[in-house]
Amino acid sequence: MRRYRTNLVIAAIVATLICTVGIILWRSFLPDRTRDMEKAVQVANVVPIVVIGSGPAGLSAALYAARAAVYTVVFEGKTPGGQLTGTTYVENWPGTGKLLGSQLIEQNKKQAENFGAVMIQDTIALVDFSQWPFKLVTEDGHELHALAVVIATGAEPKLLNEMRKVPGEKEYWGYGVTTCAVCDAPFYKGKKVIVIGGGDSAVEEATLLTSYAESVTILVRGPAMRAAPAMRARIKESPKINVVYNAEIEEILGDGQKVTAVRLIHKQDKKTEELPVDGVFLAIGHRPNTALFKEYVKRDADGYIHLAGPGQATSVPGIFVAGDVADRVYRQAGVAAGDGIRAALDALSFLQKHGYNEKIAKKLERNFYEPHPETAVRPLEKIITMKDFDKVAKEHSLLVIDVGSEYCASCKALLPIVQSVAGQMGDKAHFVRIDLGDEPAELVKKFDIKAIPAILIIKQGKLVARYDQQLFTRRELAAVIQQLIG
Ligand code: NDP
Repeated sequence: MRRYRTNLVIAAIVATLICTVGIILWRSFLPDRTRDMEKAVQVANVVPIVVIGSGPAGLSAALYAARAAVYTVVFEGKTPGGQLTGTTYVENWPGTGKLLGSQLIEQNKKQAENFGAVMIQDTIALVDFSQWPFKLVTEDGHELHALAVVIATGAEPKLLNEMRKVPGEKEYWGYGVTTCAVCDAPFYKGKKVIVIGGGDSAVEEATLLTSYAESVTILVRGPAMRAAPAMRARIKESPKINVVYNAEIEEILGDGQKVTAVRLIHKQDKKTEELPVDGVFLAIGHRPNTALFKEYVKRDADGYIHLAGPGQATSVPGIFVAGDVADRVYRQAGVAAGDGIRAALDALSFLQKHGYNEKIAKKLERNFYEPHPETAVRPLEKIITMKDFDKVAKEHSLLVIDVGSEYCASCKALLPIVQSVAGQMGDKAHFVRIDLGDEPAELVKKFDIKAIPAILIIKQGKLVARYDQQLFTRRELAAVIQQLIG
C-alpha cells in the first residue's frame, strides 16, 4: 500500500513537470500579441528604431540599425555628440591616430547619416513605455511612436553639492567654478587654478589648463589617483602641475564677484588650509541621465540602467541601452560604441522576432514619422566693441546676447537653438552674438564673462538676466525670453 502511494506521488510530480515544461515551450513559440506588427501598421508617426542620444553609443547604434536598412531616427539631445565634444584629443580610439573628440563625433555622425540615419536636433521630453509601439514626445512637442528604442543618453558632470554641501560652489558657479576646461581655460591666462578629482578627466583638464594658467593644483581626496598610468605620466611632464593628496575641499571663497580661494582640509592631520585660486575646475565623475525613464526601466541605486540581459536589453522588452547610462565600470568611448552596436543588433533581432519584415516595412513607410521642418533660423549679428553694444541696446528694448566661441562644443550646440528662437521671436526681441574669437575685450570686461556659453538678457539697456554655462532647449529659451517680455 505504502509503495503504491509513493509511486502515485512520483507520477504526480513527473506529470506536473511535463505540463510546466510543455506550457513554457508552447508559450515561447506563440507570437507575442502585445507586440503585434499588424498593430504597429495602424499607428501614425512611427519609427522602427529610435535612438535617444548622439554620443559614440547612440551614433554606433544608429550606424548599425541604418545599415540594416531599417528607418532609424536619432534624437541628438541638449549636447549633440555628448561628452566627447567637451574633451580635447582622443588618442585611444582603436584604429585612428590622435584626433579631437569633436572630429571623432563628426566622423561617426557622417558615417551613420551615409547609411540613412536621420539626425534630429531635438530632445525627448516624455516617454510612455507602458504602451507599444512606445510613445515619445519631443521638447518641441512632436509625438512619435517607436517599435524599439536604444537609450544612449550618457552622463553629465557631477557637482560637489550632490554629495555634500560645499559653500561657494553654487554662489560662484560661472564665476570661477566650472566643469569645462575646454570652454573656460582661456579665461585663466596667468592665473592660479585648482582641479578637483583624481580620474582621467582631472588629468586631462589640468594638462589643458597648463597652456594658460600660471599654476595648476590637482586635489585628490584619497591617497592615490584613479587616472590611468599613461594619463598620470602627463602630470610628470608639466612643471606647472602640483598634486595634493588626501585632502578635500571644504569651501569655495570669493569676494562676492568671483572666486578668490578655496579652503581645504587635510584628512590625515585634520588641518585646514586656505589656497588662493582664481578658478575651480570640477572633474569628480559623472551622473547617468536616466530620470526620464525611471518609471518604466529598472535602475540601480545610483540611477544607472539595469542590464536585464541578454545583451543590451533592459527590463522592458524592446527598450535597449548603450554607453555610460548603464556602465559604471568602463565608461570609455570605445566601450560605449561597442554597446551601441550590440544594442542595435539586439533591437534588430527584437523587430524580426516580432514579425518585422520587408512587407511590414513597406506598410509602415506610409506612416513614418518625418522630421518636423526646423523653425526658420535667423543668423545672429555680431557685436565686438562697446560702441556696437550701445548701438543695439539703444535701438532694441529687449536684447538677447549669445556669448560663445568656436573652440567650445557646448557653445556650438547652443548657437543653432538661439538662432532658431531668434527666427521664432525675432519680432519681440533682438538677438546678437559675442564671439570670443573676435577678442571683444571691452564686452568681456563689462559683462564679467568667465564661463561660456552664456546668455545675457538686456532690457532697456540693463542686464536683467544671465545664464552662465547653461544649455537650453528651444522651448526653455523661448519661455525665459517670453517671461521677460511679460
Ligand atoms: P572617474 O569616476 O574616473 O573619477 C572621478 C574622480 O573624482 C575620482 O578620483 C574620485 O575620487 C573623485 N571624486 C569623486 N567625488 C569627489 C568629491 N566629492 N570630492 C573630491 N573628489 C571626488 O571620472 P572621470 O570623469 O575622470 O572619468 C570618467 C570615465 O571617462 C573614466 O572611465 C575615464 O577613464 C574616462 N575618460 C577617459 C579619458 C581619456 O582616455 N582621454 C579622458 C577623460 C575621461 P576616488 O578615486 O577617491 O573615488
